[in-house]
Amino acid sequence: MTVPPFLRHGPESVALPLVLDSPHSGEHYPDDFDHVPPRAIVRQAEDTHVARLYRAATGAGATLIEATFPRAYIDVNRSLVDLDALLLADDWPDPVTPSRKTAQGIGLVWRIARGGAPMYDRKLTAAEVRDRIDRWYRPYHAALATELDALHRAFGAVWHLNCHSMPAVGDANADDPGRVRADFVLGDRDGTTCAPAFTSLVAETVRGMGYTVAVNDPYKGVEIVRRHGRPAERRHSLQIEIKRTLYMDEDSLEPNAGYARLERDLARLMDVVAGFVSDRAAS
Ligand SMILES: [Zn+2]
Repeated sequence: MTVPPFLRHGPESVALPLVLDSPHSGEHYPDDFDHVPPRAIVRQAEDTHVARLYRAATGAGATLIEATFPRAYIDVNRSLVDLDALLLADDWPDPVTPSRKTAQGIGLVWRIARGGAPMYDRKLTAAEVRDRIDRWYRPYHAALATELDALHRAFGAVWHLNCHSMPAVGDANADDPGRVRADFVLGDRDGTTCAPAFTSLVAETVRGMGYTVAVNDPYKGVEIVRRHGRPAERRHSLQIEIKRTLYMDEDSLEPNAGYARLERDLARLMDVVAGFVSDRAAS
């Protein structure tokens, strides 16, 4: 079976320059992903259900793009230079600049599973990593860029929500080990990837629904909002992290009793965001 690297869900009402992407909710594990820890442990890296939780966004005029593959295999929210030379059996021809994420074992290709167990019992070849980049990483980024560029051309501006979920408590490999997180963490890389009004709109709307919200703490947003957010060009990208225990059991990944409420609240949030975008976009 050939699985495409991403799925695109187009607007089901009048199209708005509003794009959501869910880079980490993919559940298709490629045959050559020979991880050592049990699948149930590796899957804890996923933002399971996130694309499904936001499906109502297309009814409000948004486009939703979701990755089909797991982030532990290749992480599209990392830069291509964020590669761990220790993972590789042979030389990597391109420059690498490992970030703190790579030091934590969760760079472009994850070296460890959640909890700290090594992901592989072998080194990967450069050709394998190249193949993951070419077959999965690049097509995902190209799809997102194409969508954002087309809408920006048509409307003179575009708004983008980069959608994730996070463990309720930072683990040993996170920047905030042991800390209980807010319900929502918004990341605009300290105000550099979208206009402050967009961050405030989302923050105030979800606060009004009774959720706790933190901004740029502990997640500021990583590669995807960094690449696509250029507010001076009216390209606004905001990362949204949702605490997983609001909607699922973190071990079994099964939806919990809160799933339906969160799904309804996200649909209301999308209506509010759609109204904001509609008011500001020239068409
Ligand atoms: Zn994520």
